[in-house]
Amino acid sequence: MAVIDLRSDTVTQPTAGMREAMLAAELGDDVYGEDPTVNRLEQHLAFELGFASALFVPTGTMSNLLGLMAHCARGDEYIVGQQAHTYKYEGGGAAVLGSIQPQPIEGEADGSLGLDKVEAAIKQDDFHFAHTRLLALENTMQGKVLPLDYLAAARALTLKHGLALHLDGARLYNAAVRQGVAAREITRHFDSVSVCLSKGLGAPVGSVLCGSAEMIGKARRLRKMVGGGMRQAGVLAAAGLYALEHQVARLAEDHANAERLGAALSELGYGVEPVLSNMVYVQIGERAGALKAFCAERGIRLSAAPRLRMVTHLDVSADDIEQVIQAFAAFRR
Ligand SMILES: *Cc1c(COP(=O)(O)O)cnc(C)c1O
Repeated sequence: MAVIDLRSDTVTQPTAGMREAMLAAELGDDVYGEDPTVNRLEQHLAFELGFASALFVPTGTMSNLLGLMAHCARGDEYIVGQQAHTYKYEGGGAAVLGSIQPQPIEGEADGSLGLDKVEAAIKQDDFHFAHTRLLALENTMQGKVLPLDYLAAARALTLKHGLALHLDGARLYNAAVRQGVAAREITRHFDSVSVCLSKGLGAPVGSVLCGSAEMIGKARRLRKMVGGGMRQAGVLAAAGLYALEHQVARLAEDHANAERLGAALSELGYGVEPVLSNMVYVQIGERAGALKAFCAERGIRLSAAPRLRMVTHLDVSADDIEQVIQAFAAFRR
């Protein structure tokens, strides 16, 4: 039985074309800066997103860590959402490894951080306080897409206070495709951006950090320090390049599938949050464990959370979605 895995968009398998590109990749030692495929990927993304420089790293967690550490010194502070990946889901790395103090603030329903709350959290220049240095946003944020005028306002605020602005753009391209804009229209507001190749884009491994030449220079040193300097990494970068060239526009299919799933479950009487990209959040409550087991018997893999997240991706078809809807309908009876 083929499994329909809705737990995350990290579960995708490399496509046939991607595997061919990986096999054919020209390789070198990337720690020496000699892997032509890694260099091509870095140049491609830096250019596309409007930055001077970029750095290929193994994971999004490392990419965000290096971004924060390149901007902030020991004892500096970054403002971040209470539910943000860089704060909640990265093992406290910025604090542990960077000695950077997080200042978390409660996020808004639309995935943004209220700029009045951000401004109130910025510390005065007083020796009692940590030095507020950076604002970190996330887009998409739990599937929600930040409005472009919000990004412009966040940029204006950070300029006013001399803060750097970092984007955890793990799903940057989902946001761009959803808004029908070039990714650069989003990234142009930021000093640095981290993009995951291994989520909806479908590459097996890898993220890219973009920023100024000086900032990426620092990040390159830090990457070596934390053990992220890889050698013939072009075999992985080739997958990322392939994804950027062939698997961006199709994210619209994932969004349509998520929308169809959300609408059908809502019709069935489930409490569904607004679907804005490739994530469907459904209130399942205490039956989450039972639903997971019920669906597992039907070849559908789910997480078991009362607020269940289902994620559409490359390996979930429109027909798969109909099967999932049928399973949820059967479960209700
Ligand atoms: C997955 C993810 C990351 C980190 O990626 P890893 O490659 O799993 O370390 C960062 N931010 C967000 C929003 C993510 O979804």
